[in-house]
Amino acid sequence: MPGTGIVIVGAQWGDEGKGKVVDLLAENADAVVRFQGGNNAGHTIVRDGEEFKFHLIPSGILYPDKLCMIGNGVVLDPRILLGEIDGLKRRGIDVGNLRISANAHLIMPYHVLLDTAGEVKLGKLSIGTTRRGIGPCYADKALRLGIRVQDLLDEKILRKKIMAALEPKQQALRELSVQRRKLRKEAGEGSREGADQSVAEAPDPRLDLHAMTEEFAAYGHRLEPHIADTAKLCWEELDAGRRVLFEGAQATLLDLDHGTYPFVTSSNPIAGAATVGAGVGPGDIGEVWGVAKAYATRVGAGPFPTELSDATGRHMLERGHEYGTTTGRERRCGWMDLVALRYAVRLNGMTALTITKLDVLSGLDPLRVAVRYRSREGAVFDEFPYHQSILHSAEPEYEDLPGFDADLGACRSEDDLPAEARAYLERIAEFAGVPIRLAGVGPGRDEVVWIGGNPGVL
Ligand code: GDP
Repeated sequence: MPGTGIVIVGAQWGDEGKGKVVDLLAENADAVVRFQGGNNAGHTIVRDGEEFKFHLIPSGILYPDKLCMIGNGVVLDPRILLGEIDGLKRRGIDVGNLRISANAHLIMPYHVLLDTAGEVKLGKLSIGTTRRGIGPCYADKALRLGIRVQDLLDEKILRKKIMAALEPKQQALRELSVQRRKLRKEAGEGSREGADQSVAEAPDPRLDLHAMTEEFAAYGHRLEPHIADTAKLCWEELDAGRRVLFEGAQATLLDLDHGTYPFVTSSNPIAGAATVGAGVGPGDIGEVWGVAKAYATRVGAGPFPTELSDATGRHMLERGHEYGTTTGRERRCGWMDLVALRYAVRLNGMTALTITKLDVLSGLDPLRVAVRYRSREGAVFDEFPYHQSILHSAEPEYEDLPGFDADLGACRSEDDLPAEARAYLERIAEFAGVPIRLAGVGPGRDEVVWIGGNPGVL
């Protein structure tokens, strides 16, 4: 018997609309778990015309009868989490079903400072992180210097652990601030505004041991009712044959191991990571749904072979409202990259695909899909190249498909879709080697077309 877990992952560079797909599938699920990432994720769900933005809390929170978990693989900033909890409460959403893994790691103020300092130091070579401290937090986890959610519940332990973690950070921040001051002096610059400035001036009041311990212990008191053994809660659901959704954040091509390193996130967003980040076995996973846009976008730096910097790219940006949920940054836009998508399908062991934002392509003709790359030296790549230099200079070769003009917003079944839109989906499914089960035709949760019918309880 296959497991009753379904993993939902981003198949491209993120922002594919995973939140909406999780929201739809959550209707027939019993529990939703986030398994990696931090508050750099941004899911937007439009429900009855009301927009909800989530950075940390699994989107399943909108269903009061479903367990909603933040797994051990997530790194969380308690201030942000409490802000999200308060925001939901203000809008009348019950958060009594939220459970937080006692083993999840905490993003501390020094992680945020180090993230910013690291990016500033890299200058033009910066990775484009969201500067929320997520990378340094995962680094501390690997260094065994991390502070976990359970540590919030004992002030003495918390103080000791912060003390141990803080010392090497203060050193690093001091060095970085000296370097920055030197660089600015050389460049003849005056002082700069904002977060950068705070890094330059050490010691930072945010790094005071006692104030930090007190602040975090207070967060612990507020979060205590939600702290639990979430792996065990997952087992109870799975062992009873109930449906558990594992909600991925970021996406396949941002995977720390398999993405376009170093322009990646600091965790593993691929399906396999759901087992580690939630504490379940591979056999617990019965299905893996990948979510891709009908075109491609990317935020921040890094290779993006099908990127467009012309009117077509602008069309995608504007029609698709391609601005980051968390940062407001303009996303880079381009054609659908089938080479990368097929790689994502295999890497995740996808059993189904969802193609969102098909409506955004209306008015473009032809529709282009990348089917292979050509390197600067003329070598042809049918597969996603593992070598970074090749990917950086890869030129896509396109296949052209006929476009459509119709507004897809009102389409609710396959038959409502223009023949060209159907053919476009069919070509994607054929190339990727996995069926498309759902297509998005607008931001609303009802603006979807189930391909082959709504599966209901999967
Ligand atoms: P996520 O992090 O993968 O959930 O993606 P985001 O929430 O950052 O981005 C998805 C955005 O696209 C949200 O604003 C959604 O409301 C919107 N969206 C999702 N599906 C569709 C669709 O099929 N068509 C259009 N036009 N917008 C969509």
